[in-house]
Amino acid sequence: PIYLDYNATTPLAAEVLEAMMPYLTSQFGNASSRTHLFGWKALEAVDLARIEIASLIGGSEKEIVFTSGATEANNLAIKGVYESYKSKGNHFITLQTEHKAILDTFKHIESWGAKVTYLKPSSDGLITLDQIEDAIRPETIMASFMYANNETGVVLPIKKIGDLCREKDILFHTDATQAVGKIPIDVSNENIDLMSFSGHKFYGPKGIGCLYVNRKEPAVKLTPLLDGGNHERGFRSGTLNVPGIVGMAKALGLVLNDLSDENSRLLNLRNSFENKILSSIVGATLNGHVHHRLNHVSNISFGELNSEFLIPNLVKIAVSSGSACTSASLEPSHVLKAMNVSDESLYSSIRFSMGRYTTSDEIEYSTNYIIDIVNKLKSW
Ligand code: PLP
Repeated sequence: PIYLDYNATTPLAAEVLEAMMPYLTSQFGNASSRTHLFGWKALEAVDLARIEIASLIGGSEKEIVFTSGATEANNLAIKGVYESYKSKGNHFITLQTEHKAILDTFKHIESWGAKVTYLKPSSDGLITLDQIEDAIRPETIMASFMYANNETGVVLPIKKIGDLCREKDILFHTDATQAVGKIPIDVSNENIDLMSFSGHKFYGPKGIGCLYVNRKEPAVKLTPLLDGGNHERGFRSGTLNVPGIVGMAKALGLVLNDLSDENSRLLNLRNSFENKILSSIVGATLNGHVHHRLNHVSNISFGELNSEFLIPNLVKIAVSSGSACTSASLEPSHVLKAMNVSDESLYSSIRFSMGRYTTSDEIEYSTNYIIDIVNKLKSW
């Protein structure tokens, strides 16, 4: 099938595998082994990767904490801040359309005594600064807003939110899992205190991610999730995933290298895809803001056709309904629900996400194929 599920995960780039290979084979050392060359070589590779990643997001190497992925980074940011700032306050602000790795973590700390405000987005998935400002209380310690939504691709005004949080003296965390490698990000300029992301969303390996932690004065404090060998300056114990770290750095460098060309290529593909689908299928509608959106994502509802029925009929393309993480369940998307889309649209939405290896031939073929299948199913 034609792969149109790049938001779920991306294939490992050949150059990334090549960069990782030595650290999976001959250079297998533990980056914490300080007594021999194997350890020194591993540490050197980690140090270089750390500098590379930090410079690509506008931070410094002391601000990079490697984790197993964005899920862990989100958990560390939220639980870690809750534990470390309890004496200052216990209130958090977030959005109803966040990923479950955020929402479920907030649910968890609510059971510890935290208070969380879950703001409702507008029908196109956006949020206003006034909504955030109105939610801030004296005991608010952090706001967490995703950079780009995994289901709709909607991009929030992160710099404006960062500026507001800085002005109000509250920490700002962003789950940038879908934005890193798709949009140029500068954590310092955007006043981001904490930022989570995962290597496998931008052609890097799975099982490696990062939490950026602002260490400029006043440095963000975090209580670690894991106790152990005090790796990552105490923020995250556990033997470092050297091949993963090397791969993530290589992958990020590669995607950012031709970001603007790739973004315009994807925008052209997406426009031709969407224009044809929306004009050829009666009742097809777009979910999420038309412009404030990642260039490679299209979330479309197909009227009365249930996506649980439609997707198995679209055997020649690989897509998902809602987020891949919850698509095993028949629950409708909490993201679209929060955006107040109609019940019909809620149950008939499909997420199409393109990427580096998507060709115009594939898009042309998929477009005609979808129109053909959907119109056949509708006429039955
Ligand atoms: N946050 C967002 C917005 C995501 O899209 C994902 C993955 O789908 C995650 C967090 C979790 O990433 P991982 O599974 O790599 O931990």
